[in-house]
Amino acid sequence: MDNRYDIIVIGAGAGGLVVAIGAAATKKKVLLIEKGLFGGDCTNFGCIPSKSLIAAAHHAHSLNIAKEYGIETSPFSFDGKGALQRVRKITQEIRSHEDPAALKKLGVETLEGTASFKDPYTLIVNEKELQGKQIVIATGSYPIIPPIEGLEEAPFLNNETVFDLDHIPKRMIFVGGGPISSELSQAFSRLGSAVTVIESRPTLLEREEPEAQKVILETFQKEGISLLLGCRTERVSYDKSFSVAVRGKSMQTIEGDALFIGVGRRPHLKELQLENGKIIFTKDGIPTNQYGQTNQKHIWAIGDAAGPPFFTHYAENQGRAVLTNLLLPFQLKKSAQPIPRCTYTDPEVASIGLKEEDCNPKKIAVYTVPFSEVDRSITTGRTEGFVKIVTKKWSSKILGATVVGPRAGEMLMEISTAMFAKLPLRKLSRLMHPYPIENLAIRKAADKWLKETIFGVFKQK
Ligand SMILES: Cc1cc2nc3c(=O)[nH]c(=O)nc-3n(C[C@H](O)[C@H](O)[C@H](O)COP(=O)(O)OP(=O)(O)OC[C@H]3O[C@@H](n4cnc5c(N)ncnc54)[C@H](O)[C@@H]3O)c2cc1C
Repeated sequence: MDNRYDIIVIGAGAGGLVVAIGAAATKKKVLLIEKGLFGGDCTNFGCIPSKSLIAAAHHAHSLNIAKEYGIETSPFSFDGKGALQRVRKITQEIRSHEDPAALKKLGVETLEGTASFKDPYTLIVNEKELQGKQIVIATGSYPIIPPIEGLEEAPFLNNETVFDLDHIPKRMIFVGGGPISSELSQAFSRLGSAVTVIESRPTLLEREEPEAQKVILETFQKEGISLLLGCRTERVSYDKSFSVAVRGKSMQTIEGDALFIGVGRRPHLKELQLENGKIIFTKDGIPTNQYGQTNQKHIWAIGDAAGPPFFTHYAENQGRAVLTNLLLPFQLKKSAQPIPRCTYTDPEVASIGLKEEDCNPKKIAVYTVPFSEVDRSITTGRTEGFVKIVTKKWSSKILGATVVGPRAGEMLMEISTAMFAKLPLRKLSRLMHPYPIENLAIRKAADKWLKETIFGVFKQK
């Protein structure tokens, strides 16, 4: 076997697949190395299984709240274990589009095994030496195990194991109140588990606007999820079920049948032996320049391996940029556009750019429209959320936005597009929206600018 390649990609996840498939399409000799399941975290242990579970949970929840919509139901019970089987079926289906057989059809040679550097141009996989003119590191991230007494000995769950459950546990304890834990705790609660969330900070989704956090906290409380906020998980013990000692204002013990740990992620660099490749890295990832290159110009890093934020769309976007740079004779800079994000709780929390607290209050204007002012939201009974847009004063240049609503991720894209196209908020007041879609909240925010800025000036005269 000729062991020399134009491009070697390490990691067949969201980022690595983009580079390998794109480069193979231009007839480059490409090798994609994967040590686990093809498709990486997103397909196997992340976005796809979690969003599939959330979809099932949504239907279970609809049954429970039918009465709020005037639909009388007879007493009923349900068992959510089929939802987990459905999750695995969907995951398998999507993985089949990304496995070695599918990739071979696209001209990508694959190799199963763990890659490590021997020197800056040589990788070792299954004791074989492989040479790459260009090497792309796309090895993703792994879940952090916090130093909690007794945890290592207990059979706790994380995102790599939770979707293998064959039933919905009666009582579940979630440690962590970030996006992953919030999405899954609500989904399992809706599927019938009695859920407790323990978070050391005083809130869930701490990176979001305080008003967004408030809506999520109120929703979780309304749905019967027990929240232990500002509490430290001190000790875990397991004997057929879990006992978790929690320190808040006082000590308490929470009992559960399953324990999920979701306290954050760290770039997956362990096995790479980056020192041999003379590649600079920290525990937070591999630093890259504006083109995606590491300190070794022929070695590139993308996705979670290059550090936060950890999103599939960000990994793919970086993959596209690096692919372009690998193929073109000149170099393109990585995209500087703001990165949108969405947490798929219900309601969803989607945001982009700056938050109000990030800005100088004298230089900004903030336009908030609650969904209680939006006809469509009133008809669907989903008035708990809002659209909040932070703009530059006067010009209405959009600096950031948060949407909290049932389809906030989709809605956010109107604002994302405006930011990408450098459209100020005021222009959106002239954009026709079909009535009565929820995005009219965005037009209403733009109308507020008109009212307060232009009409406000006329009023003063
Ligand atoms: C529960 C959960 C839900 C999520 N939901 C979302 C979401 O809704 N939206 C979103 O945008 N993001 C979401 N994410 C984040 C998203 O999954 C990641 O940001 C994304 O998968 C990163 O892509 P990547 O290519 O960097 O790494 P990955 O997709 O993780 O791929 C890396 C691959 O490299 C392999 N690898 C590692 N080391 C080696 C080695 N030495 N040799 C060979 N192979 C190696 C790994 O086995 C892995 O398959 C979620 C994550 C989790 C855990």
